[in-house]
Amino acid sequence: MAAAPAIVLKDGRDKSLLARHPWIFSGAIERAPPLSPGASVDVRAADGTWLARAAFSPVSQIRARVWTFDPDERIDPAFFRRRVAAAVARRETMLDADNTAVRIVHAESDALPGVIADRYADVVVLQLLSAGADANRDAIVDAIVGATGVATIVERSDAEVRTLEGLAPATGVLRGALPARVVIRELGLNYRVDVLAGQKTGFFLDQRDNRRIVRDHAAGRRVLNAFCYTGGFTLAALDGGAQHAMSIDSSAPALGLARSNLAANPAIATKPAKWREADVFTELRALRNAGETFDLIVLDPPKFAPTAAHAQRAAAAYKDINLLAFKLLSAGGLLATFSCSGGISSDLFRKIVAGAAVDAHADATIIATLGASADHPLTLAFPEGEYLKGLLLRKSA
Ligand code: SAH
Repeated sequence: MAAAPAIVLKDGRDKSLLARHPWIFSGAIERAPPLSPGASVDVRAADGTWLARAAFSPVSQIRARVWTFDPDERIDPAFFRRRVAAAVARRETMLDADNTAVRIVHAESDALPGVIADRYADVVVLQLLSAGADANRDAIVDAIVGATGVATIVERSDAEVRTLEGLAPATGVLRGALPARVVIRELGLNYRVDVLAGQKTGFFLDQRDNRRIVRDHAAGRRVLNAFCYTGGFTLAALDGGAQHAMSIDSSAPALGLARSNLAANPAIATKPAKWREADVFTELRALRNAGETFDLIVLDPPKFAPTAAHAQRAAAAYKDINLLAFKLLSAGGLLATFSCSGGISSDLFRKIVAGAAVDAHADATIIATLGASADHPLTLAFPEGEYLKGLLLRKSA
């Protein structure tokens, strides 16, 4: 039998693969056969040693992403069935009557590079972000239907990273029929998810555990939720007994959904809530100038630094909003502050927030360090998976 086509690495560039890191950068490659985007290919060290089987991406800096480190494992529909079934099984205990939404596949961290799948009750929203994921669309969709029993699959492959892979955006209903409304429950609260036009896949499931923490600290507090999107932290805080909540976002559709989400939860629907369509940077200044104070502030901005190259400008933005938050906080007030920037490490984030506190003449204690929910696992071999980091801080009196 002829040898399978193989990428051959430069001398000494096999180290990251031997450490089970799944990315092969273009600069590590000595030679590669002509292959179509997403094709499966063997990866060999300079001396010919077999290392991995990967998906080829001819235009991306990440030229190949590993599917398997097992020489006997073929990349076929059964492979995707096994991987998806294992990922779904790991989340089985996370679903119950009060929590009907979960990320079922978290890309590299579930050994399926480029594949993201979020389950929203009876709908799964899929993002295929790499050439390898894109080329295996049908097998992946079949595997998800098989493992979950969900009939409706929606694709939201409209993330910008697809352009780095040379892929055009792809969105739409892939299987089944989309119900007029997709409604999930999280921590016992109802949320409507706009799976076709909402941000990312429609809902930020990675913040579920942190919404629970905010809920559990909210009793009696006056809450400010900046970058509120469809209201997750706001509803959680009100459910936890917050006195009132003010929420800010620049997106009118997100705020519209946030209001209707509050209304869809009878136990908290009449609690005092203000929604402001505004730029957070401007609005926090206006609130400070008006002398307003809060006892619990949530800062969950969008990704300011997709990569380390953007870190410096992003750092200034993070510092700005955290500084303003410290000023708006009452003594003893809590700040739950986040960064979902891959380009900002947890260390750097802590330093930025510390600098903001100094400039605001505030001292603070770290009550907890925060990360993404358990359905967004982090593996030792792939530290890049740690994109969401947060701190729960108490401002000293
Ligand atoms: N905390 C939210 C998710 C936040 S996503 C949740 O738990 O669901 C980031 C949000 O920031 C988006 O809704 C986006 O519309 C909003 N946003 C981005 N830039 C903004 C700005 N400068 N001012 C206000 N909102 C902004």
